[in-house]
Amino acid sequence: MPHPLDRRTFLQTSAAAGVATALPSTLPQSQAPSVKRSGPRPMVISSANGNRFKNGGRLTCVAQAFTLMEQGSDVLDALIQGVNIVELDPEDDSVGYGGLPNAEGVVQLDSCCMHGPTRRAGGVACLEGVRTPSKVAKAVMEQTDHHLLVGHDAQTFARQVGFPIEADLNTEHSRKLWLEWKRRTDANHWLDPKQQSQLGFEAGLHMVREGLIDPEHYYGTINCNGVNKEGELCGVTTTSGLAWKIPGRVGDSPILGAGLYVDGQAGAAGSTGRGEANLYGLCSFLIVEMMRRGMKPKDAGMEALRRIQANTVRKSLLNSRGLPNFNVNFYILNAHGDHAGVSLYTSSFAVCDANGPRTEPTEALFPGKPSE
Ligand code: ASP
Repeated sequence: MPHPLDRRTFLQTSAAAGVATALPSTLPQSQAPSVKRSGPRPMVISSANGNRFKNGGRLTCVAQAFTLMEQGSDVLDALIQGVNIVELDPEDDSVGYGGLPNAEGVVQLDSCCMHGPTRRAGGVACLEGVRTPSKVAKAVMEQTDHHLLVGHDAQTFARQVGFPIEADLNTEHSRKLWLEWKRRTDANHWLDPKQQSQLGFEAGLHMVREGLIDPEHYYGTINCNGVNKEGELCGVTTTSGLAWKIPGRVGDSPILGAGLYVDGQAGAAGSTGRGEANLYGLCSFLIVEMMRRGMKPKDAGMEALRRIQANTVRKSLLNSRGLPNFNVNFYILNAHGDHAGVSLYTSSFAVCDANGPRTEPTEALFPGKPSE
C-alpha cells in the first residue's frame, strides 16, 4: 500500500493549491485531535482507495474533498470532485474507467449521492459509457424529480445533459483480466445458469488468490462522506460493482439506504463489499437511524454487521467457522464529525481532517479472514 501523505506534505500540497489559510497549519499536531471544539469537526471519510489513487495529480480523494470543503465548496461538490479522481484513475479497477467489467466484458457502473442540507438524492445503475457515474448521479439529483435512473435510459439521460458517451470503458488491464476469466469459465459453457454463475464467481476468487486481482477490487467501490464546519453532511458512492457480474446486476452501491445514506441531522454511512449482504438489511440506513437514536458511529456500525451475520444463513456463504465468507465495510460519520470505519473482517479506510489524509485499520467484528 502506498504511503499516505503525512500532515506536513498535505499542508504543503494544499498550500500549493492555494488553500493555506483553510488549514490550521500553526496548530501543533499533538493538540489537534484533543482540542474541544464547539462546532462540528470537519472531516472526510472514505474507503481505503480514497487515500491511495491520485490519477497523476497530487492529492488523493479524501485530501481533495477536504481541501475543497475547507475552501467553502458545497460538501457534495467537494466529495464528488474527490471520487472523480478515483473514477478516472485507470489503476483503480473497481470504480469508473477501467473498472472490471461484467460477464459479457462490458463495464457497467453504479453510483448514488445524497445532499443532507437540501435532502436531495440521485443515482444511476448499470450505466455504460460515462467514466464518472457520480456526476451523472448528481445530475439526476439536480435535474430530475427522481432518485434513480438505470441502464440504457440512464445513458440517454447522461447524453441529454451533456456527458460524452464512450463506446467502451475497459482499459487494457481490465480487458485482459476479463479474457482470462472468460478462458477459465467458457469451457463449461453448457452448465445450467446457476452452476455457471457459481463457477464464474469461484474462477474470480481463484484469480484473487493467485494475485491477479487485488482482493479489495473483486468487490470494490469508493464511498466518501464529509461534514463541514457548519455541520453540513453529504455522501457519494461509486463503483463498477462485482467483477464479472451477470449483466444488469445491481448491488448496494446506487441504492439509497444500502450503499449510502445521509441524514443531515444524524449522520452519513456508506459501504463497500458484498452488496447483496448489505442490500438485504439496508444497513447504511440502519446505521444512520441508530445514530439518530443516540448510538456512536462505531457501535451503530457493529450492530449493522451483526445484522448481516444473522441474515447470512446460506451454506455457500459461510466459511469453516460458520461465519460469512465475504467482507462488508461501512464508513460512518455523524453530524459532529465523529467517525468510524468498521468491517466484518479487518481492512482499512481513509480519513482526512485538519491533520491531513491518512489510512487507518477498520474495527473488525471477527478475527481472521473471510476465507478461514
Ligand atoms: N458493494 C459493491 C457491489 O456489491 C461492490 C464493492 O463495494 O466491492 O456492487
